[in-house]
Amino acid sequence: MPSYTNKAETFTPVTEDDEYIRAVLPDLATTVLMLSVVHITGRLDIIRKAPAAKLPLYSGDGTGGFTPEQKQAILDEAFAAISEWRDAGCPAPYHPTDAELHEMMSYLAGAPLDARYVPMLKEELGPDGDARQFAWDEPVDKEKLDAFPVLIIGAGMSGLLNGFRLKQAGIPFTIVEKNPEVGGTWYENRYPGCRVDVPSHCYSFSFLRNYKWPNQFSPQPVLNRYFKQFADTFGLRENIRFETEVLGARYDEQQAEWEVSLRGAQGKETLRARAVISAVGQLNKPSVPEIKGRDSFAGHQFHTARWQQDVELEGKRIAVIGTAATAVQLIPELAKVASHLTVFQRTPNWIIIHPEYRKEIGGAEEWALTHLPFYARWYRIMNYGWGIDGSPAHLKIDPNWPQDGLSVSAANEERRVRLTANIKAAIGEENTELLDKVIPKYPPFVKRPNPGDGGYYRALQQDNVELVTDGVEEIVSKGLIDSSGREHEFDIIVYATGFKAMDFLAPMEIRGVGGVNIKDYWGEDPGAYLGMTVPGFPNFYMMYGPGTNLGFNGNLIFNSECQTRYIMESFRHQILNDLPAIQVKESVYKDYSQRMEEALEGFTWSHGSTGNWYKNSRGKVIANSPWSLLDYWDWTRKPDFSEFDVVSLAAG
Ligand code: NAP
Repeated sequence: MPSYTNKAETFTPVTEDDEYIRAVLPDLATTVLMLSVVHITGRLDIIRKAPAAKLPLYSGDGTGGFTPEQKQAILDEAFAAISEWRDAGCPAPYHPTDAELHEMMSYLAGAPLDARYVPMLKEELGPDGDARQFAWDEPVDKEKLDAFPVLIIGAGMSGLLNGFRLKQAGIPFTIVEKNPEVGGTWYENRYPGCRVDVPSHCYSFSFLRNYKWPNQFSPQPVLNRYFKQFADTFGLRENIRFETEVLGARYDEQQAEWEVSLRGAQGKETLRARAVISAVGQLNKPSVPEIKGRDSFAGHQFHTARWQQDVELEGKRIAVIGTAATAVQLIPELAKVASHLTVFQRTPNWIIIHPEYRKEIGGAEEWALTHLPFYARWYRIMNYGWGIDGSPAHLKIDPNWPQDGLSVSAANEERRVRLTANIKAAIGEENTELLDKVIPKYPPFVKRPNPGDGGYYRALQQDNVELVTDGVEEIVSKGLIDSSGREHEFDIIVYATGFKAMDFLAPMEIRGVGGVNIKDYWGEDPGAYLGMTVPGFPNFYMMYGPGTNLGFNGNLIFNSECQTRYIMESFRHQILNDLPAIQVKESVYKDYSQRMEEALEGFTWSHGSTGNWYKNSRGKVIANSPWSLLDYWDWTRKPDFSEFDVVSLAAG
């Protein structure tokens, strides 16, 4: 039985007694509770007369920043409303007007929000079910649908999502997946400690509800299971070719089709498709540094995304190279079992100590998520960070700010001070040697900060753990030699050294009109209109393409839902108007790329103080989006077909 539904909002009526209700309310997200009470009572004055909620301090902060007295007054009012509603038999909840929704979301965000958010919010609230579902206005001839086969590369989150929508539309599709299972990054990354660092109630499909997330931040096995269940529940497996790799795709101008070359268990073959959707992700090609002597190591060595489950860790001498997001999750786990763990840090990272990093969702919260109308939806929305959407002051470089290399603006400095204080609190002021090594000497948010619970710092202070800040000079058969000339012996070397994020689509060879290789078209600067489409590559779309990585708000599943809708609307237009192929105009692509480049310049990510995986070798930010979720959602609701050329069939 699926443990979620894509139908309209439902809730289990409240039957618990007063004592139970009084006991659970203090443990709920106060701001979210207030909004649910608005649905229960239809009374907006609950938020109008309440003290203003403060901007959340961390993702998932639903405290509102209220004083204990303010909170108690809110809980008393919520209790009265819920018990009265229970006694009345839990009548249908109130559906606020657009203006009221605007008030409610601004209240939750802790900041007045642009009213343009309302239609986007309504989709996320989805009172009637899947607000982004694909439906034809009138039945379409099967012949027309059959003439539009689509090939999706990858059965991770976004590949499955596209399959789901294509199935809704009745458009034939095949998903080609190199792994033996679905899940993409959540299948491949199986290192100890792996978990998502975006809250799961937000990092999940908008149209599936009532999923019982056991943790605020799901461990990898939970997410992997979520995507497997998704494939099973909606019958997507029958469309997937597992253990088959796409080697390349070539646009056939005669037929306006893509010829896709594959390699599977039976050898090489080609498939033809009207359209291709690449859903291969940005962070899936491990980057293993070319260190001298690497092949001479006699022990085990592997990248975190190629974890060797059969290698025993207990009692072993282990090296970890790299100290970013992956390493911060991995190191506390290895420190528990290794006889000795040596961590090689090239650059320290800013770590955001998140109070709910290991929070389990149960008890009071599970009750509210199931019983209180729209609590689960507002809980999800709370995690989006709409309060900073469009104006993330701490991520913007202020040209008038003294450029001391430590911060880039007043808001950025405020974050630096707060993050530094948290690191000091986690380690202890007295351990100056460690503090000096791990507190970054560059502004926060130039690299991606890594959420954690402080376990990384605790691990570094264990007797069996050493943090080395000398470089890795050479690998030898017994271990490695650092740049100070010291030799270290290991049984296992782990590369937590990240991914080749700039090699979009590699190693596939994608050739468009005139046989042009997309790599040659891009050169050093991969780009795509809205992150999805490139001139000269008709009916070819990328999920999570260049310029779509999110640096401050929302999550990639939201982005994928926007992209999928855009692609589906393109297909609708083509099928209804008998247009075999369309491609974005070069002028549109260039204008977008130019605007994007200018918008990115003011962001911390382009600051020269240190490197990050967002930039190309010339220091230009390629991976990230500078746009607000609202703008991106708005631009991708429906393609503007005046921005596209119809590609006529080549005479032949
Ligand atoms: P990363 O952010 O690219 O970090 C790679 C680490 O390896 C850095 O510390 C880097 O040091 C170091 N390194 C690279 N080459 C080295 C060399 N030759 N010698 C010594 N050190 C070297 O990779 P990641 O930690 O795998 O994370 C990548 C991204 O994946 C994250 O930013 C995030 O978007 C995603 N991710 C998400 C989650 C999650 O949601 N839970 C978890 C893991 C990863 P420098 O800083 O000096 O380059």
